[in-house]
Amino acid sequence: MKINISQAKKEIGSRQPFVFTLPVNSLQLEQLSFTMISEVTVTGDVVNKGRVLEVAGIIHADAVSFCDRCLAEFQFPLDIVFQEEFQESAMQATDELAEVSTYQGDEIELNGLVEDNIALAEPLQTVCSPDCRGLCPKCGTNLNVAACMCDRTEIDPRLAKLQQLLKNNP
Ligand SMILES: [Zn+2]
Ligand SMILES: [Zn+2]
Repeated sequence: MKINISQAKKEIGSRQPFVFTLPVNSLQLEQLSFTMISEVTVTGDVVNKGRVLEVAGIIHADAVSFCDRCLAEFQFPLDIVFQEEFQESAMQATDELAEVSTYQGDEIELNGLVEDNIALAEPLQTVCSPDCRGLCPKCGTNLNVAACMCDRTEIDPRLAKLQQLLKNNP
């Protein structure tokens, strides 16, 4: 998606807000650790900082992933904060910084920025709920939805030996 920046270019300090949505399938993304199930909404501001334009905002989508503990699929909001500086490409010849993003004319193409930020995103939420009880390590029952009869008390190996002795010598 290209955003128009003619307003922001006018003078130092000018701020131009933008918002746009992109269908997920319009983005080129490698395999991710989550699946986006909504359109991607990008909201932000372009601020004229003099030599550069700063583009900052938030990328939002609804996503699903699999819980680290119980392996069930769960939904969560994906919110990625981004900030990037863009330089008018004509100026780049005199600048030694190779790692700077550029634009030409009155528009900035943001798909690359959105794709990069999504690819690097590490969702904060990796479990379906902070108190997810997970799977029973013995029988695999999902303990959020059912109980099982397994003895899951963790015993210190030294105590286990003692327990065994006591059992053998009542
Ligand atoms: Zn879970
Ligand atoms: Zn069990």
